[in-house]
Amino acid sequence: MPTSTSRAAAEEPRVGPADAAVVASRLAAVHVGARTELDHRDAFELLVATVLSAQTTDVRVNQVTPDLFAAWPDAAALAGADETTVTEVVRPLGMGPTRARRIIGLARGLVADHDGEVPDDQAALEALPGVGRKTAHVLRGAWFGHSLLAVDTHVGRLARRLGWTTSSDPRTVEEDVIARLAADGDGSPAEDLTLLGLRLILHGRRVCTARAPRCGDCVLADVCPSAGAV
Ligand code: SF4
Repeated sequence: MPTSTSRAAAEEPRVGPADAAVVASRLAAVHVGARTELDHRDAFELLVATVLSAQTTDVRVNQVTPDLFAAWPDAAALAGADETTVTEVVRPLGMGPTRARRIIGLARGLVADHDGEVPDDQAALEALPGVGRKTAHVLRGAWFGHSLLAVDTHVGRLARRLGWTTSSDPRTVEEDVIARLAADGDGSPAEDLTLLGLRLILHGRRVCTARAPRCGDCVLADVCPSAGAV
């Protein structure tokens, strides 16, 4: 029989951050087999596809990359590609000329600085044209197996709704999420950050969407400070 004290506690609105260990464990249970949804066969293809995915969806990127990589299968080939021809291939994604310039510039950087190979090095990747911290984390996490949080729009939104951060700055969000994992765990962020990020992205796409989060169907509703309040 609940006491009046326990009833009052249960009725109080939850304002604290969601327990990160609980969130990580529940997301792992519902988003089994989470992996990048960008089709790729090697590090070069994943890097190019990730750069192309800016301001569009993975599904749309997957519709153009088969033709793109059939015509230009590696950095050396893409570095020498005709910009107008590449633009035609990536045009369905929007901003065709910009995207074509971006990936040709990236390929040229790979050829000039890394003999056409994709380096497993954060600073070297970020030094390439069109590659930022998030893209480098996606690549190094998904292809090279590092534990790295790639903060995109979904991860940022989920982190704010779960009370883990108040920031919109991706670098600050990353630091706040890692600090929350450490605080709610054993003092170190034991979670695989790459997998956690992929699961947060899936949750953001399928359940905790930007405009209409489905809190009633969410496995985090009992620990989330934003449940029913967005
Ligand atoms: S769907 Fe609702 S309960 Fe689930 S994480 Fe988003 S805001 Fe929280």
